Amino acid sequence: QNRLLGGFRRTSDRLSENLTGLFTKATLDSETLDEIEEALIASDLGPGTAARIRERLAGERFERGLDEAGVRQVVADEIARILAPVAEPLEIDAFPRPQVILVIGVNGSGKTTTIAKLARRFIEQDYGVMLVAGDTFRAAAIGQLKVWAERLGVPIISGKEGGDAASLVFEGVKQGVATGIDVLIVDTAGRLQNKAGLMDELGKIRRVLGRLNPEAPHDVVLVLDATTGQNAMSQIEVFKEVAGVTGLVMTKLDGTARGGILVAAAEKYGLPIHAIGVGEGMDDLRPFDPHEAAAAIAG
Ligand code: GDP
Repeated sequence: QNRLLGGFRRTSDRLSENLTGLFTKATLDSETLDEIEEALIASDLGPGTAARIRERLAGERFERGLDEAGVRQVVADEIARILAPVAEPLEIDAFPRPQVILVIGVNGSGKTTTIAKLARRFIEQDYGVMLVAGDTFRAAAIGQLKVWAERLGVPIISGKEGGDAASLVFEGVKQGVATGIDVLIVDTAGRLQNKAGLMDELGKIRRVLGRLNPEAPHDVVLVLDATTGQNAMSQIEVFKEVAGVTGLVMTKLDGTARGGILVAAAEKYGLPIHAIGVGEGMDDLRPFDPHEAAAAIAG
């Protein structure tokens, strides 16, 4: 379990380093509060979170002066308070079916792997799943998704590299309806360096879907690589603008990730966190547990 949450431990280690040395002080004077606030920001928790924790600590009475366990408890409480409202698994509840889930994110974030992991979870819940290889800019992405589809034993709609993603999506929904599929998971291109192109591409997919079912896409899930730290924040900003993100999956929390960024994202954007990725296999997706994450980060 600890290994799996390595990404959070890294943040908590960093927090410890930053907090160490502060505990020789007897009181929480404003200088100490400044230092704690800075330590929290340096741990990727974000300025909003740091300010909230500072405010809580300023109002706190520590019996024997500043006490490390007490500070950590306040940090854990405040983090849990921020994370609890955003912990929200992705539910399949669309009628009529299929529920259409667009998966977006920059290349390398773990989009393809996350699609396989989500598909695996839905299959376990007895839903019929179909994939659409909508990242038509990368032949490798198409090939990789096909391999996952085969391993998972689910149908996949794919075309040639450079093909039209929107028509694949159209085909996917048509076939999904015809064969009684519950969930259609759509991979998309993630070329952040071409924002206008990305917006066109995603906009076209949305228009095609909207004509088939005004509710679709039901979910627009942004996949974020936790190891990118602050970069993840700017990715949320851009994808919110070009694609209307409805929820997040954060990947690579098993590695040397900086999971604190999850807290910053939750505090700033309040977007649902559907799940976290903790490995490269299709079973390495975990529900997001805000209390576990808060405890792991606060140390
Ligand atoms: P895409 O380009 O966004 O589709 O990214 P991929 O799904 O191909 O993933 C990029 C790399 O990250 C691959 O080597 C994956 O195995 C790896 N990866 C994806 N998710 C995770 C995760 O949660 N943990 C770890 N350790 N690796 C991951």
